Amino acid sequence: MKRCSRCIMPETMIGISFDKDGVCNFCRDWQKPQLLGEQALEEIISSIKKKNNKYDCIVPLSGGRDSTFVLYIARKKFDLKVLAVNYDNEFSNEQTVKNMKTACELLNADLISIRSKRNVASKMVRDAIRMSALKSLPPNSFCRACSYGFQTNVYRMAKQHKAPLILWGSSSAEKTLHLTKEAFKILRPPKTRLQKLCNLANLSLEYHALLQRLEFPMPGRAILDRGKPVLKEKDIREIKLFDYIPWDRRKIKDTIINELGWRKPQGNVSTWRGDCSLYPLISFSYFKLFGCTKHCFGYINMINSGNMEREEALYQEKAMIANITHGLRELLEGKIGFSKKEATRILSFQKNEQTTG
Ligand SMILES: [Zn+2]
Repeated sequence: MKRCSRCIMPETMIGISFDKDGVCNFCRDWQKPQLLGEQALEEIISSIKKKNNKYDCIVPLSGGRDSTFVLYIARKKFDLKVLAVNYDNEFSNEQTVKNMKTACELLNADLISIRSKRNVASKMVRDAIRMSALKSLPPNSFCRACSYGFQTNVYRMAKQHKAPLILWGSSSAEKTLHLTKEAFKILRPPKTRLQKLCNLANLSLEYHALLQRLEFPMPGRAILDRGKPVLKEKDIREIKLFDYIPWDRRKIKDTIINELGWRKPQGNVSTWRGDCSLYPLISFSYFKLFGCTKHCFGYINMINSGNMEREEALYQEKAMIANITHGLRELLEGKIGFSKKEATRILSFQKNEQTTG
């Protein structure tokens, strides 16, 4: 299989093209992120500390690599009084929970983990996967419950505890959505509103999304408002750490492993995105549609920014592909709650002419 000579994106990716040196269009379009700088960050931090609140900041904590590092920086480097807020999306694994607790204990940070009493996230995941099947697509777009739950609960906790700052750990290396959005559009043109409404799985998904909003209402928002959570509090500021300081993969990894006893969940090839047990399902879908895992999109950033060697990325990608269906049946039939027949149908997905037509 032909792959980009700089990153490892394969020729099977929708919309890919190679130049005469074999470099793909994603690499050619890649731009080095412009950082706001450490001084700007320090100015924000010192103004926050002057307020002398019970908590200086909220660190949204998934237990994954980057958010754990943000917690470390907030405590060790800036000595901020931190409340770590975790949204338990019902699919976190044991090791991740252990990682969170250990890090918070070692760093002397308070931790609060919030989970739906009605297991609404699991139900939304099941509805969204059924929707994908109806569209003749492998499972996708099932992260909605977690996106809403995480963001809303972080905002709610910041408001409740009067924390003036939210320090997010998302990094540009994880911003891969724009690369696949177009590809999904090509695969399946959007349905009309009426068609969507006639779809039972969709009704069920909207019902469960409403239940989620009732359980975790977004401050200052109507319950029927389906939009993305937005921070409306004037006294709370939210920033992304890696908009200010470089995202240094090796440094992050070494710090959390050596200083915080962080371990990647068993069976994971990479330290990236191990915090959710649904992630292998995303990789499965991407592989079925594009011939590569979702990690592959992240590697574009990591390789071009000098954070990763091409060989290491290729090694990880191949290891993941070799195990692409590992544990998926247990996940689908167990936690998500599909019947054996449904799980078989989902796992036997084959991309065909209809899907791409
Ligand atoms: Zn490339």
